[in-house]
Amino acid sequence: MSTNRGILIVGASQAGVQLASSLREIGYADPITIVGAERHAPYQRPPLSKAYLQGKVTAETLSFRTQEYYDKHDIQLVLNERIVAVDKAPDGSGAAMSASGREFAFSRLALTTGARPRRLQIEGADLDGVLYLRDADDAEDMKARMASADNVVVVGGGFIGLEAAASAQKFGKSVSVLEAAPRLVGRAVGEETSEFFLKAHRSRGLDITLNAKIVRFTGESGRVSGVELEDGRVVPADIVLVGIGVVPRTELAEQMGLACGNGVIVDEFSLASDGTTVVAGDCAELPNPMPRDGAPERLRLESVNNAVEQARNAAATVAGGRVPYRMVPWFWSDQGEVKLQMAGLSAGYDQIVTRGSVEDEKFSFIYYREGQVIAADCINNPVDFMAVKALLAKGINVPADRVVDAGTPLKKLVAELAPAS
Ligand SMILES: Cc1cc2nc3c(=O)[nH]c(=O)nc-3n(C[C@H](O)[C@H](O)[C@H](O)COP(=O)(O)OP(=O)(O)OC[C@H]3O[C@@H](n4cnc5c(N)ncnc54)[C@H](O)[C@@H]3O)c2cc1C
Repeated sequence: MSTNRGILIVGASQAGVQLASSLREIGYADPITIVGAERHAPYQRPPLSKAYLQGKVTAETLSFRTQEYYDKHDIQLVLNERIVAVDKAPDGSGAAMSASGREFAFSRLALTTGARPRRLQIEGADLDGVLYLRDADDAEDMKARMASADNVVVVGGGFIGLEAAASAQKFGKSVSVLEAAPRLVGRAVGEETSEFFLKAHRSRGLDITLNAKIVRFTGESGRVSGVELEDGRVVPADIVLVGIGVVPRTELAEQMGLACGNGVIVDEFSLASDGTTVVAGDCAELPNPMPRDGAPERLRLESVNNAVEQARNAAATVAGGRVPYRMVPWFWSDQGEVKLQMAGLSAGYDQIVTRGSVEDEKFSFIYYREGQVIAADCINNPVDFMAVKALLAKGINVPADRVVDAGTPLKKLVAELAPAS
């Protein structure tokens, strides 16, 4: 009988660390090894575009866990090693090879390899000062360069772009956002929320261009100096942050012959197509964990919430459970003074109700489909967010004519409408 090598988790970040912790919590006693390509101990990414960039927190405070935690729970953490090849037997065991030549034998494999920034391949893309923001080194670099920059251009009006733009503005920089689509954050929120963000950011002085057609980055002596648009306008730039989305890291999965689409394809137990490898986080294409009519059947979620919950699901699978992955997706984004919290997925909505005051920037858009609440975008309104998250989890509906009255706490309505148990 072969020795039990335990589980090898490739990718040392939100999903990987959660998977290891959850395994120990549920009593998994075999060896656990996490291998990560970055040189830093695993850390939270969300503050990189917010509090860290604004100088409110230091890199040291972002770590998920102390080394004592890993030692105490017998989790071997190997940093600075990129796994480049995996040789796996049908029973799920095998060996992984790192770029430096180290070999990691395993009895079970987990992929939590996350995502990388999508690159903008245009003329001038290699100029110094054209930046991306995914990891701690990127954020440190951007923060250092921002200190001496006057003009900051952000390409992409998605969450990370707008958060970073709002952070740069706090330092008094002149900030321009160039978005190729007709609205901001178009992939993730409804039109009304996009419209709100446009007004909120413009009123604070962000220069936002929608439908921007970028032709090239201009440069002087190898350094970026501007962004040229199709209409000939050149927006001056000392640094350019490109935030145009991410691409799932599927290269190992592909090399292993696992089915991949928009990520490594998994079932509702977080199992890849080989039936043994578990996958969680930004790299996974999964069945919608909150299935309903009008919503996509499969998707990829880029959020802390999904990385954590899917990793828990994957841990249950490794430990022998068969628990289908179900949860209410949620997300947050802090853009200067504006805090967005989203619960559920608004795709396919046919009615939207505004609760509270858009003008005062404290409100919620509640999305309905066929009279049923399916999601909410809450602005500076954590109380509504919590209530919608709870009602979605419990399958309770609050009719639109009741929800519109912002004077009645949603929590009260939820309690009133909950079926007696
Ligand atoms: C700037 C920023 C702000 C964000 N803000 C928010 C927010 O406000 N709210 C929210 O919900 N989410 C936010 N997110 C998204 C959130 O951080 C991600 O959804 C989460 O980090 C996903 O975790 P993950 O473990 O799946 O992947 P990742 O965090 O991408 O980690 C994957 C890790 O695997 C490593 N890796 C990949 N391939 C290999 C290999 N072959 N060998 C070894 N290691 C490998 C990578 O180096 C990386 O460290 C933000 C992300 C960023 C970048």
